[in-house]
Amino acid sequence: MNIYSFTRQDFEKYFEKIGEKKYKALQIYDWLYKKRVNSFDEMTNIKKELKEKLKKDFNFEKPQIIKIQNGKDVHKFLFKLKDNEKIEAVLMNHDYGNSLCISTEVGCNMGCAFCESGRLKKRRDLTTDEMVLQILEIEKTVNTRISHIVLMGIGEPFDNYNNVMKFIDIINDDMAVAIGARHITISTCGIVPKIKDFSKEKRQVNLAISLHAPNDELRSKLMKINKVYPLKEVIEAVKEYLKINNRKVTFEYIMLKDINDDPKYAVELANLLKGLNCYVNLIPYNETSHIEFKKSDNKQIMKFYDVLKKNKINVTVRREFGSEVDAACGQLRSNYKEE
Ligand code: SAH
Repeated sequence: MNIYSFTRQDFEKYFEKIGEKKYKALQIYDWLYKKRVNSFDEMTNIKKELKEKLKKDFNFEKPQIIKIQNGKDVHKFLFKLKDNEKIEAVLMNHDYGNSLCISTEVGCNMGCAFCESGRLKKRRDLTTDEMVLQILEIEKTVNTRISHIVLMGIGEPFDNYNNVMKFIDIINDDMAVAIGARHITISTCGIVPKIKDFSKEKRQVNLAISLHAPNDELRSKLMKINKVYPLKEVIEAVKEYLKINNRKVTFEYIMLKDINDDPKYAVELANLLKGLNCYVNLIPYNETSHIEFKKSDNKQIMKFYDVLKKNKINVTVRREFGSEVDAACGQLRSNYKEE
């Protein structure tokens, strides 16, 4: 078992089961996440026999950073996993702190037309420890603390639901990585049953929905998932989420030149979202060499923005990060493969 896959409760149960005191869980967590040791031998307050037992049950196996690309305020990391699969994470320096965009799967089956990760299909889920360790390894490598986590790297978080929830339990725990729930954002392409499950968990984590189009005809062309869960169902699920959780929802909208960036779509979008406690994040498309979509002109993005504003929709334009470092979701991995 990888030691970074255990929540504090998992450890408590484990220690109870082997006839040890529950508080040992806290001790282990302190070594792992506060002192950041890499072996049981460094845990000086654990007695020898228990250490031997722990060594049999747990390993400290870590994904390895095999490539780093640095840009202005952005650092991109390529990881090699134990089975040789590759994933990536992107660290962005904001004025409010450091946010890390992490991967949740090796590849992705959602098959969005504009996305590099989908081009390479899903190979497997990431385990909880592989997600936790993206944070720990990057913090160690660049000697920094990460304040915000976004689940917007390779993969669809709601297609790996249980591991992702466990990951959140660990990083959100004050005794572990201690990243506040409000500093964590899950982004989904709109898997409706999982949005419903997530609503019921009543977590303070932010929910972002990748919308990218205001009607089914256009959305189905861009996102295969829309044929399974059309817009109406996605919006219904978001309404349900908003009823249970008093949190603003984010709708992401990539700006694709001549595809979805006509101001008429902004009007349509405003009507779709009217009255919802939400905001829209317009994302300048990150062009990739394998996919023919182009980024909208800034002027067009601002026109779109203005229409939404006029229609009283909260809207922001995402600052562009990392087009110089293959930062589009899945790009580093896929370019590495071809090298
Ligand atoms: N599967 C999840 C999370 C990963 S993708 C989701 O769909 O939300 C994170 C975000 O990046 C999504 O909004 C996705 O549509 C967007 N994205 C994918 N490729 C992109 C690109 N080349 N440029 C800009 N955004 C992109």
